[in-house]
Amino acid sequence: MPPRAQPGALAPTGSGVLDGRLIVVDPGHNGRNFEHVDVRRPTIDGSEGPLCNTAGASTAGGVEEVDIVWEIGSKLTSLLRRQGATVVVTHVDNDGFGPCADERGTIAKYVNADAFVSLHADGAAAGSSGFHIIHPAPSPRLQPTSVTSSARLAVFVRDELVVIGGRPADYVGDEGLHERDDLANLNTADRPAVLAELGNLRNGLDADLLSATSSYEPIARAVARAVVRFLGAVPDPNRLSADIDGDGQTDLLIGAPDWMVPTTTTTSAPLPPPEPTVPAPTTQPPPSPTSSSSSSTTSPAATG
Ligand SMILES: [Zn+2]
Repeated sequence: MPPRAQPGALAPTGSGVLDGRLIVVDPGHNGRNFEHVDVRRPTIDGSEGPLCNTAGASTAGGVEEVDIVWEIGSKLTSLLRRQGATVVVTHVDNDGFGPCADERGTIAKYVNADAFVSLHADGAAAGSSGFHIIHPAPSPRLQPTSVTSSARLAVFVRDELVVIGGRPADYVGDEGLHERDDLANLNTADRPAVLAELGNLRNGLDADLLSATSSYEPIARAVARAVVRFLGAVPDPNRLSADIDGDGQTDLLIGAPDWMVPTTTTTSAPLPPPEPTVPAPTTQPPPSPTSSSSSSTTSPAATG
């Protein structure tokens, strides 16, 4: 098995609402994974296990998921460190192979992370669009608290992406949330853990969005806000950042860093509106289970 990239711990660069917290950021895949797509994990008995790690999806124009999530993950890492968090990244550059999907989750368990966030973009059918946040299903190997806290974290991430104009997926999950029992990194993390599929790269709207580097900062800030709210580092985290007191106006959380102000309040929405790219049929066909993403149907270790 070729050598896998190693995680790295990045010290805080500031002090703030995340002082003393430890977050694992996992930019999905790695830049040289494409050279090792057939590598499988050895199992305890020596037989071949699941795929170590896949190369990831890409847009029709050739923009790679691995590069998109690396950039967003780097911005997310920077934001979290500035607010006092130590961030462990599953790989320190985008020019290696791995770690394997299960190893990425194990890192979060090993360091007893306060949260594990894995960033991805999907490669589903072109007619499908939107983001979805995957959280682990109950399993004997996971503490019940990990399962429930992961579901909570997923809601925060979903909500914050909606705040900046994100559209929950129209092809998988339920209102942007999807519970799964087959993702190796979520199944090994046993900490509050989510895998964000930020959009479908095979869809034109999503591909345009995620190919635009101007989208990366708002997305990173949204995910960072979700982590801050999840960790209870701000008063009343159960309110949307966009409207803390429910008066219809956007509010800044008391004691929150200024980057928690949703970017949609000062700039145009970075995400495209939910306009259909084709004339809407008079009746909506039911979602086809076979239309879900390639990564949703591959082996447990294939995503991550
Ligand atoms: Zn991926």
